Amino acid sequence: MKYFVIRNQRVTFGSSKLRPMNLHEYQSKIILKQYGVPVPEGGLANTPDEAYKAAEILKSSIGADKWVIKAQIHAGGRGKGGGVKVANTLDEVRLYADQIIGMRLVTPQTSAEGKLVRKIYVEQNIFYPGPTIPSEIYLSLLLNRVSGHIIIMYSPRGGMDIEKVAEETPDQIFTEEIDPSLGLQQYQARKIAFNLNLKGDAFKNMIRFMTAIYQAYIKSDASLIEINPLFKTSDDKILAADAKIVIDNNALFRHPDIASMRDFDEEDPIEVEASRYDLNYVKLSGNVGCMVNGAGLAMATMDIIKLSGGHPANFLDVGGSANAKRVEEGFRIILKDPEVKAILVNIFGGIVRCDRVAQGIVDAYNNIGDIQIPIIVRLQGTNAIEAKKLIDESGLKVHSAVSLEDAANLVNTVLK
Ligand code: GDP
Ligand code: MN
Repeated sequence: MKYFVIRNQRVTFGSSKLRPMNLHEYQSKIILKQYGVPVPEGGLANTPDEAYKAAEILKSSIGADKWVIKAQIHAGGRGKGGGVKVANTLDEVRLYADQIIGMRLVTPQTSAEGKLVRKIYVEQNIFYPGPTIPSEIYLSLLLNRVSGHIIIMYSPRGGMDIEKVAEETPDQIFTEEIDPSLGLQQYQARKIAFNLNLKGDAFKNMIRFMTAIYQAYIKSDASLIEINPLFKTSDDKILAADAKIVIDNNALFRHPDIASMRDFDEEDPIEVEASRYDLNYVKLSGNVGCMVNGAGLAMATMDIIKLSGGHPANFLDVGGSANAKRVEEGFRIILKDPEVKAILVNIFGGIVRCDRVAQGIVDAYNNIGDIQIPIIVRLQGTNAIEAKKLIDESGLKVHSAVSLEDAANLVNTVLK
């Protein structure tokens, strides 16, 4: 399969399941636990009272006497933004929960407005039981799309400044490539534990950890697992203190339990709606909406918009059957974005007849009513001449273009 990347999201040609499946930390830890990866015990809370109760349960069940309160949002860098706090008493648990729930958390990975925190995760603090500070390790598993191998990336200098470590001391970042047909070999797991300077029980526990997390990666069809930090405690346990998992969307159909974890609050509402119509839509930040059939043509159209001085507001592939209904759904989705100042429709009529598509555009325009922005339509292929005639004679604010250059010039004109 071929892939291209928009805004760090992977898009698969011909697939309608565009949206990446990002998981919250607490969800990632549920999955890791299922495969025997050691994680701290914790509980989810929506309110300070629930946080208090979760902490109490951790106290009575495993003797936790310190807790970590962690904001659950789809963005990293929470620690730097004040979204991770250690509570020393149950009252502090309530206090920090009250501070974090409802805050707009701004981190290096969010916009300036930040993300609203709706949920927190209350965990046993894994400084417990030893008093010494555990060392923070970085570990991630990801796919090398060129070799088709899995890359394990790791560093003994993990924690909140891993980007700085990568920049200033790249020799502290190690990689190991795994051929998925062979799986993770024992010697590779040992090499990782060795490079992390682990000894004795910690060394053995790291090898077990690697075996389990590799299984989790393969069996859950993850495209990324990132553990930062991974803790080695003073009593030589190896534990995932943080976890981020991204699941390959195209494999979600075989993981209904994971698919049901999708948190719509964290996603772009227009993208969520588009997926209900099975439209391949990705929101971008520009001002020209585009509706195209075929992913390759969509990419070319976005280039054309750029050349004309505009910026694409979205990627939208209506697919092979550009019929009236889909055209209408597509228009409705694009028009929800208030930034859109013009729409460019670029459809190639191979199997579909252009005059049918043109009629669909006219019908959709009339059905939606009150479209204030100009629409530029380029239809090429079967019955293109009839289609252009139909558009030109419709009397609507729809401009027809013949060539791509033509379309670009029209976009440029209407934007002025
Ligand atoms: P991120 O900033 O979004 O990546 O969130 P993390 O879960 O990585 O938390 C940020 C930092 O908080 C970590 O780098 C650790 O230093 C610290 N931290 C996370 N979990 C624990 C824990 O269980 N105990 C203690 N003491 N610190 C923790
Ligand atoms: Mn982290």
